[in-house]
Order: sequence, then C-alpha cells, then structure tokens
Amino acid sequence: MKILRSHLLGKWSAGVGDSFALLHDPTTEDPLAKVSSAGIDFRAAIEHARSKGGSALRELSFAQRGELLIAMSKAIHEHRKELLELSMKNCGTTRKDSKFDIDGATGTLYHYGALGKELGDGYVLPDGPGEQLGRSSIFWGRHGRVSRDGVAIHINAFNFPAWGFAEKAAAAILAGMPVITKPATSTCLVTERCIETVVEADCVPEGVLGLICGSVADLFDHLHGQDVVAFTGSARTALRIRSHENLLARSTSVNIEADSLNAAFLAPDVQPESEVWNLFIKEVCREITQKSGQKCTAVRRIFVPQEQLATVEEAMCEELSGRVTGSPFADKTNVGPLATADQLSSVLEGVTKLREVADLVHGSGERVDGVGAEPGKGYFFAPTLLRAREAGGSDLIHDLEVFGPVSTICPFDGEAPTAACLNSKGDGSLVTSVYSDSDQWTSDFLRRCGSWSGRFYLASEKMASQAPGSGVALPSSLHGGPGRAGGGEELGGIRALELYSQRIALQGSRRAVERFIGD
Ligand code: NAP
Repeated sequence: MKILRSHLLGKWSAGVGDSFALLHDPTTEDPLAKVSSAGIDFRAAIEHARSKGGSALRELSFAQRGELLIAMSKAIHEHRKELLELSMKNCGTTRKDSKFDIDGATGTLYHYGALGKELGDGYVLPDGPGEQLGRSSIFWGRHGRVSRDGVAIHINAFNFPAWGFAEKAAAAILAGMPVITKPATSTCLVTERCIETVVEADCVPEGVLGLICGSVADLFDHLHGQDVVAFTGSARTALRIRSHENLLARSTSVNIEADSLNAAFLAPDVQPESEVWNLFIKEVCREITQKSGQKCTAVRRIFVPQEQLATVEEAMCEELSGRVTGSPFADKTNVGPLATADQLSSVLEGVTKLREVADLVHGSGERVDGVGAEPGKGYFFAPTLLRAREAGGSDLIHDLEVFGPVSTICPFDGEAPTAACLNSKGDGSLVTSVYSDSDQWTSDFLRRCGSWSGRFYLASEKMASQAPGSGVALPSSLHGGPGRAGGGEELGGIRALELYSQRIALQGSRRAVERFIGD
C-alpha cells in the first residue's frame, strides 16, 4: 500500500512507528494509502521554512513571486489527467466535480501569478496615499504593507484538496511568506501529488512550499508572532486552534473559514418559467448536488414565498430526479459518494435530526447503493430535499449544517425585511444568493442584512447569461464570512495579501518614505 510522505526540510519523509491512518476509496471502501507524520521535527521544519524559504521569497519582487505561482500552476496542470483520476478515486468526486477542484487550483494560482505581474517590481504594498505630517511636507508619512517574517501554516478541509491548498498558498507566496500546507488526512493523496509535481518541476526555491501529511502534532507550540495560521474546516476544530495557548500568547494571526448555512432567496417578483425562475431552480439544485453537497458554499436553506412553495418544490424535485448517484467512474453518474464513512454517518444523523422539524420531499434519508458500485459498498447518499414545517424554518434549520447533498425549503411571506431576518438567523455565512429582478427588493434586503454574509450573489435576468452560480469562489471576490462562518477572509484579489503582511506607518522625510513605499 502506498505510504504518503510529508515534504519538509527540503526532503520527503514518511512517518515512523505504527500509528498510520488509512485513506479509503469512498466508492469501494478499499484502503488506498496510509499516512502518519510521527517522528517529524516540526520545530526544525518551521525554522527551515522561515529561514530558507522566507529569505528567498523576500528577495523576490511581486512580479517574480507571480512567476513562481504561474510555474506552479503549469506544473500541476501538466498532470491534470492523472490528478483528476486520483481525485475521483480518493475523494469520490465525479470527473466534473474533480475538475472544479483541480482546475480551480491551477486557475487561482495563475490568477495570483498575473496579479503579481501587475504589482510589478516592488516589495511593499502601498496602503493609502502619502500625507503631510508636519508643518510642511518635510515631515511625511505613508502606510504600507510588508511581508511577515514567518511561515504561513495552512490547514485545509477534506473537500478541496487541490484548490484549498492553492488558494491559500497563492496569496501567501505572493505576499512573500513561505507555506507549510496540511491537507485533511482523508483526501491528502491528491494534495501530496500536487506538491510532488511542483517539487519535481523544481519551480520554487527550497523551503517555500512544505507539506504535512498526517497530524500537525506539536507544530503550533513552535509558532510566533510573525507566523500565520489559516484554517478551513469545522467550527469545532476552529475553536481548538483559535484558543491554542501559544497562538494566543504570541499573538499569531489566525484566519478561520468554518461552517456556513448559506441561504438562497427567491423574491416575490420572480414568476414561474421566467428566466430568473429557471436560473434559480437550476442553480440551487446544482448547489445541492455539486461535489455531493460537500461544499462550504452550498445552499443549505432555500427561502421561497409561501404562494410559490408548491411550484418550486415540484420543479426542484423534477430537476433532482435527473441526478444519478453512483461511482464517479460510471458514465451516468453526476453525484459521487460522500468522501468518508464518517461523512456518511454525520449526514445520516443530520438528516434524521432535520426530519424532526421538516418533511422529506425528495430522497429517502437513507444510504443508497451507487450506480456502478458493488451493492452495500460505498458512502452513497442521494440528493435530499426537505420542507420546513414552520414558516421561515425552525431554529435547527438555521443551526445545523448537514455537509452533504441536503437542503431545506422554507416558505416565507416574501417581504424583504423578513428575508433579511431569516438570513441573519444563520449567524453569519459565506454566501447568500438573491434571485430577483427588483432592485428595490434586493436593496431593501441588503440594507438590513448586508453584514451577515461575506458575499452576496445577486442573480437577475440581466446577468443570467454569465451567471456562474453562487457556489463558485472566484479569486477576485472575497471568500469568508462573519460569525459561524469563522470571521475570516480569503481571496478578494490583492486583499488576500493582507493576512500575510504587516501594515506599517512610515514617518520621515518625504524622500525616505517614498523611496521605500513609493510615491
Ligand atoms: P475538520 O475535521 O475540522 O478538519 C479540518 C482540518 O483540520 C483537517 O486538515 C484536519 O486534519 C485538521 N485538524 C483536525 N484537528 C486538528 C487540530 N486539533 N489541530 C490542527 N488541525 C486539526 O473539518 P473537515 O471535516 O475536514 O471539513 C468539513 C467542515 O469544513 C465543514 O463543517 C465545512 O463547513 C467546513 N468547510 C468550510 C470551508 C470554508 O471555506 N468556510 C470550506 C470547506 C469546508 P485531519 O484530517 O488530519 O484530522
């Protein structure tokens, strides 16, 4: 069986001892590989990344770091076919869903590479204009952002083993920080191969990109105030990381991307069979089923005006009944298995709880056999739609994230203030989508709840022909959200570099200030 390795201190190494975790093929349940990080000297690994990788990166301008990112993107893209197959095997994602992850990774690296070229030959990000601080312009001031003199530790969730690593690494490397990335153990086969392609292509200096396969063990004990931790995963793990004693004591920056009960609203102006109506049905169903619902941006709560409830339900059931759950290698499949046995148990348990307050309108709420898979094997769960018994949905619907192809329709009175209140009941989310051609309704809604989501996707007839769907985290738009969603921020173009840089106020002669930050 393949033994996965970490890449630290400029070399590959497997864990020692016998405490290996197993990775499984979610379609067959066969073991695929084993992994452990036992025996790795994390203190030395961090020091090596800071001193070797960090020093090398800070010698490079934004444009040169951008070139590194483009080289990384190309190195991974050259192995696209192999990576797609690996993703289908390790994550259970269909070919299309695997592309979402792998192409998302290379596209995001490329995007930040191009951004580096735009930023040019500088090393400092100007932050606002220069200002006269004294009686005359002899005493001048300006703010700027400089690379942090530490290492960026990236901890990722199981659902995006390629994109998750790439979207964080792109921002950190462009900002001038070396990265040690730690994918979720269950799907780290894909990340390991991505990093291997970059190492084989020899396209980044030693120490710039490290990989931990397995647990982080005592790593956090060795971090200091110039380091950064960026985490994506469950709120439970987030809390443990946020409250880590050493991270608190050293004021290490921690960015959290956690759970999210994303909402989609159908506004009352949208009539059945209109373009926006059809977009709503198509996109919300895709959000439920893409990556088998294992997407942080997936729609979990669907709000529709009471008088449209029956028609929406019928249209969504019809759309969902065209989805085939099965092996990602079977031709007809468009919904793969869940990634792990634990995921399946957690989804089954979650749906059982939701059924206390909502009725099933599509799906059985049980594990199913997958098309093209051995009966009784595989972590299959078919798309499932529920209808809330209470108008607006009871508290549980606003509180329980079932991380699978599961969503709940909730009727409401169609009023924008009610919709705003329902959106905020999710206690902070990554993305909220609004389907409406009424700018008035949309702005009444946004005015009341604009601070409760990190991103708002406003679907209308005007943009329908280019609509990507609410679940796509575009590199140029912010990804993150308040409250339950973790309070973090990633992506958003150049904004992503803020986490990895220190804002400084420079005060001095105008010449000295402008020489360092620019004019
Ligand atoms: P998870 O169990 O919290 O694991 C996330 C990562 O944390 C994994 O790499 C895991 O490693 C690691 N980890 C676990 N315990 C740790 C500890 N004590 N110290 C340091 N790292 C630790 O989450 P998951 O099951 O992979 O992901 C599902 C959750 O992530 C869902 O709730 C979803 O909402 C959320 N998510 C959010 C976003 C977003 O952008 N907001 C994106 C994707 C997913 P091991 O695998 O080795 O345990």
